[in-house]
Amino acid sequence: MKYDYDVCIVGSGAGGAPIAYELSHAGYKVLVLEKGKSFKEEDISKDELAVSRRDLFTPKLDEEKHIINDREKDGSITRYDGEEYSWSFWNGSMVGGSSNLMSGYFHRMKPNDFKLKSVFGEVKGANVVDWCINYEDLEHYYEKVERVVGVSGEVKKHSFLEPRSTAKFPHVKLEENKVTEWFDTACENLGFESISTPRAIISRSEGKRNACSYSNFCGSYACATGAKGSARAALLQKCSAEVRAESFVYKLESDVEKITAVYYYDKDLKSHAIKAKIFVLSAQAIESSRLLLNSKNKYFPHGMANNNGEVGKNLIFSAGGSGQGRFNFEDLTEKQRRELMQRGLFFNRSLQDWYEYEEKGKNFKGGTIDFLFEHANVISRASRELYNDKGELIWGKELQEKIKKQLTTSKVLSFEVFNDWLPTDACFVSVDAHEKDKFHMPVGVINLWGHPQDLKVGEHLAKNAVKVLKEMGAKDISYNISAAPPPNLVAGGCRFGEDAKTSVLDKNCKAHALENLYVTDASFMPTGGSVPYTWTIYANSFRVADEIKKVLQG
Ligand SMILES: Cc1cc2nc3c(=O)[nH]c(=O)nc-3n(C[C@H](O)[C@H](O)[C@H](O)COP(=O)(O)OP(=O)(O)OC[C@H]3O[C@@H](n4cnc5c(N)ncnc54)[C@H](O)[C@@H]3O)c2cc1C
Ligand code: SF4
Repeated sequence: MKYDYDVCIVGSGAGGAPIAYELSHAGYKVLVLEKGKSFKEEDISKDELAVSRRDLFTPKLDEEKHIINDREKDGSITRYDGEEYSWSFWNGSMVGGSSNLMSGYFHRMKPNDFKLKSVFGEVKGANVVDWCINYEDLEHYYEKVERVVGVSGEVKKHSFLEPRSTAKFPHVKLEENKVTEWFDTACENLGFESISTPRAIISRSEGKRNACSYSNFCGSYACATGAKGSARAALLQKCSAEVRAESFVYKLESDVEKITAVYYYDKDLKSHAIKAKIFVLSAQAIESSRLLLNSKNKYFPHGMANNNGEVGKNLIFSAGGSGQGRFNFEDLTEKQRRELMQRGLFFNRSLQDWYEYEEKGKNFKGGTIDFLFEHANVISRASRELYNDKGELIWGKELQEKIKKQLTTSKVLSFEVFNDWLPTDACFVSVDAHEKDKFHMPVGVINLWGHPQDLKVGEHLAKNAVKVLKEMGAKDISYNISAAPPPNLVAGGCRFGEDAKTSVLDKNCKAHALENLYVTDASFMPTGGSVPYTWTIYANSFRVADEIKKVLQG
């Protein structure tokens, strides 16, 4: 057969870009098909309206949506039309994917995350399994991500520090706000181990990437300096892979053992076919499952690689929630006020003291708490002030004065809790029998359910975070641990595993059922660890790139 490319990758984010980078550097002809637009650093601004109120980086919900089936406590299902309820699971449709918009809080998974079942045992109602690789198999690639994508930080010994092959991060930690010292003192008083949060942001310029300019608009905003380790700035811009933007892949075609072509629509809705030796799917967890389920033929009547019915199963998110406390000028000295209001510098503190903990003689897998200043976006900060102390809606002068006071004489310190969203039979991706998107393809259905243990663990973590805020002197402390999934931290749907009956992919993330199909976004993850996923996605994708290289070399 005549091939157009050695490797064709669907989706240009954290899962796809390491493959493009490695294989194009190894001399292979690589094409990346990306449904979103291409933005360069010079196109990027900190336009709050475009990001907060308009869908600049994500598909419009009247053109592309999801159906969400939310399972209630009594087992009944409530169906939400994403368009009708403005419930979006899109995260960043553009060259480089969601990694352009991430905050870049980077944590490695811990060795015990790879063997949840062996270490913590079965959990009733959850499909907990061990991974088919170990931390040691990924360590070299975690380190590679530090170097190639760029991670800044400070290695500090603590109870749950994962084994490292290098003593330091390649980039020194980013500049920190003085309020971190209040935090460190509070942790010391409480006997907690304060950790400086590693970030996928470079602190010194490197090649064409400038160092961070402390723009204050990081999470949800693309980076204009190239400092953020997005798949675009860190990988795609530094390799010769061809990236074709505004190319929506709608179908994979196969014979009994191989993918033979992918089909995509360009921006004028013209259909094209690409033939390659190897195909890599990395469209983010939900969309990868959806594309496989929508690609049916006589060999795979239930969707590509889905003859065992496992595609879409065991969808997971990062469980947990968030909380906050406010520091008011009236409680602070003049020096502390100045420190609090210092602009730009990061907070960057994490706690992992309860990554594993014991309660009533039972060991639990806990998680991570990241602390950060509230987002600088004035729209979201002002929106929080719409009600008075009695819970009544306010407007005009009263609202104006409240916003001015809160924004100029106080500041909010937030925290985010990350713990395992246990995989279950009730949380999975399917496709809708009737609803179609603008490309006339069946939309994805997100069937949601969170295991009760997720909430219990989240509560445990949040209560400890509150202790720190109290010790620091924060007021108006609140938190919300809920079963609502964070749409930006999604994994599972195409589990990897040794057993072809119970998993979609083998240990190298190749479909058991097809010789030349790999899936390298977070779909492969059977459990998610208690950290944000992206460092692991990048690391695993570099690992799979090495396996694909071996296959291409014959
Ligand atoms: C606001 C925000 C903050 C975040 N903060 C953090 C953080 O601090 N730490 C962390 O670890 N993670 C964070 N994340 C999550 C992180 O961005 C994701 O985990 C990671 O980018 C996922 O990589 P991916 O390759 O699976 O998907 P993506 O990066 O989303 O890439 C998938 C790409 O595939 C494209 N695509 C989809 N379907 C098709 C199709 N049919 N045809 C062609 N192309 C297609 C999409 O347009 C997209 O560009 C954050 C995300 C967001 C949105
Ligand atoms: S310059 Fe720094 S703070 Fe601003 S978006 Fe880039 S990485 Fe984030």
